[in-house]
Amino acid sequence: MKVLSVNAGSSSLKFQMYEMPSEDVLISGLFERIGIDGSYTIKYQGQKVKKEVALPTHKDAVQLLIEELKNYHVVENLDEIKGVGHRVVHGGDKYADSVVITDEVIKTLEELVPLAPLHNPANITVINVFKELVPDACQVAVFDTGFHQTMPEENFLYPVPYEWYQKYGVRKYGFHGTSHKYVSGRCQELLGKEDAKIIVCHIGNGGSISAIKNGKCIDTSMGLSPNAGIMMGTRAGDIDASMVLYMKNNAQMTVEEIDNALNKKSGLLGISGVSSDSRDIEDGMKQGNERCILAQKMYVRKIVNYIAQYYVLLGGADAICFTAGVGENSKDTRRDIIEELACLGIKIDPARNDVRGEETLISTDDSTCKVYIIPTDEEVMIARDTYQFATK
Ligand code: AMP
Repeated sequence: MKVLSVNAGSSSLKFQMYEMPSEDVLISGLFERIGIDGSYTIKYQGQKVKKEVALPTHKDAVQLLIEELKNYHVVENLDEIKGVGHRVVHGGDKYADSVVITDEVIKTLEELVPLAPLHNPANITVINVFKELVPDACQVAVFDTGFHQTMPEENFLYPVPYEWYQKYGVRKYGFHGTSHKYVSGRCQELLGKEDAKIIVCHIGNGGSISAIKNGKCIDTSMGLSPNAGIMMGTRAGDIDASMVLYMKNNAQMTVEEIDNALNKKSGLLGISGVSSDSRDIEDGMKQGNERCILAQKMYVRKIVNYIAQYYVLLGGADAICFTAGVGENSKDTRRDIIEELACLGIKIDPARNDVRGEETLISTDDSTCKVYIIPTDEEVMIARDTYQFATK
């Protein structure tokens, strides 16, 4: 059975088509700069083809995607596509699990737009386009927030007036849930222990840390929005909220400009003044750039703080897992983080750590806690949930 996994952003659309249940990837691709100019890349049988083409809307991208599926003879007829799974950023506290997308679900997603003003509208647009162009497929929403819905109240509430939560839904939701679920699930398998205590470090351009026990999320570092928790590529993460008013009053900035700076001009980029990409920070450090050295120190410190907090919250940990762009690829960042945890008896093995993007145990045999690299796979999680519903 053919199932499509779709991840739409405000100006991009990533897809992967699977043969299920074998989970073989038949074709994948990325449409970029939608609404700006447009280009797309298709990956098929190890070959990558990039094309420049006008993509005024998400609908144009989906139409092209369907054309390419036929060009490559991945499908001859659209009714062969039995399921389309959509990554939806915000499910609020309405959805802990994936759901089949009905008109009622779309209405709820529209109601949730204030919580994810950049992401949910793009998700809704793409869902509607697929409903129109592939009407017979089972459409499923897989939520970034879903896995974190098991957090207890004392962990998801902010100590602000309680009515903010009751009336406006101000609380911690957490994001990257599909990744945290995949990585912690895979880690449980590697440990052979269902009730394992696991700390997942999803560190890429965005980043979040989660504490997981018995396969359930107990706490996570992102909050009401993805701009909370650790320092990221361009996001500040946790800050003193009073900074917003202070900058508004003293720097003649609007709240929107401050929000934009906190999301797009902060983090590694803000401190280094060089780049949001950890590869550039590492290069800068090698050249002795003081601001890159400082950015990396701060980046590591924020992550270590969360790991330490969650280590105590869980009452120790069986494993720490690294995933996403930085976690899977940056040997130096992994080393710097684990070295800061030496007082807990957690030790990294330099030879084992000398690897990128591969599932690997990187702690020493006498480390008190196992440390793994587990490459994330959100797409396969979306395909699995979609397949479950499509075969019901
Ligand atoms: P993601 O958001 O998960 O796609 O992660 C993207 C980020 O991963 C990039 O911005 C880089 O900071 C980081 N990254 C990717 N490859 C490497 C690498 N080889 N070494 C260090 N960092 C990397």
